[in-house]
Amino acid sequence: MAELIYEGKAKKLFTTDDKNELLMEFKDDLTAFNALKKSQEAGKGALNAAISSKIFGLLTQNGVKTHLIKTIDETHHLVRKVQIVAIEVVVRNIATGSLTKRLAIPEGTVLPFTLVELYYKDDALGDPIISDEHALIMKLATRNELQVLKDAARKINDILRPFFASCNLNLIDFKVEFGRTENGEILLADEISPDSCRFWDMNSGEKLDKDRFRQDLGGVKMAYEEVLKRILGALK
Ligand code: ADP
Ligand code: UDP
Repeated sequence: MAELIYEGKAKKLFTTDDKNELLMEFKDDLTAFNALKKSQEAGKGALNAAISSKIFGLLTQNGVKTHLIKTIDETHHLVRKVQIVAIEVVVRNIATGSLTKRLAIPEGTVLPFTLVELYYKDDALGDPIISDEHALIMKLATRNELQVLKDAARKINDILRPFFASCNLNLIDFKVEFGRTENGEILLADEISPDSCRFWDMNSGEKLDKDRFRQDLGGVKMAYEEVLKRILGALK
């Protein structure tokens, strides 16, 4: 019997008959600003499940090891159970969001090189930005693992940036999470979707991601549908 073992802000995790595998359910809930802002959007879970499944598939084809075993139905993925590394790895190509707020780097600045940042995955502390040294002191990862995480994040960006450009989407920034298998192998985990990425239309600059919810722009579901449509078109 599948047992709910975790309910987060956007997903639920269930056990399966295999102790090394979990069922991941994508919810319709939307949250922002460390869950201070909450809402629901019918169909959002299915859209993210479909988008994440296609993106993880593309990454697998390009040699990135991920937790995804298979897509079960519209809102469920079967995944390898991992021990999540408590670090959110954020990759940025263009300045916006917290980078702009914290350092006053003007919104829309094309960064001279891809920026990789680490955040401590801890809701109570509000996911603070950390350095490698903080991560080592807190034993969140080993020195070698930090290198693996950062290299994998850059590789993911190198694959996804041109892919999304072929969808006429500018990949502004994104967050990824990784986990360890029982034998210590690092896998890409969680999801990659408009909840965890920023996409701007290449021509109009229109935002097609969770910023529509964060900034009350409306049309959240339409934007996610548009992203999925373009991904499916590009993968044909
Ligand atoms: P949050 O926990 O931030 O509210 P979610 O609602 O997306 O986020 O919950 C999904 C949880 O599942 C996250 O904490 C994520 O780190 C964790 N997770 C993702 N993939 C796996 C996996 N393969 N094995 C175990 N945990 C995972
Ligand atoms: N992000 C995420 N989860 C978080 C924080 C950030 O998925 O808990 C993603 C966010 O969607 C964006 C990138 O990481 O694509 C950088 O976010 P930023 O630090 O600018 O944070 P925000 O502006 O959302 O506070």
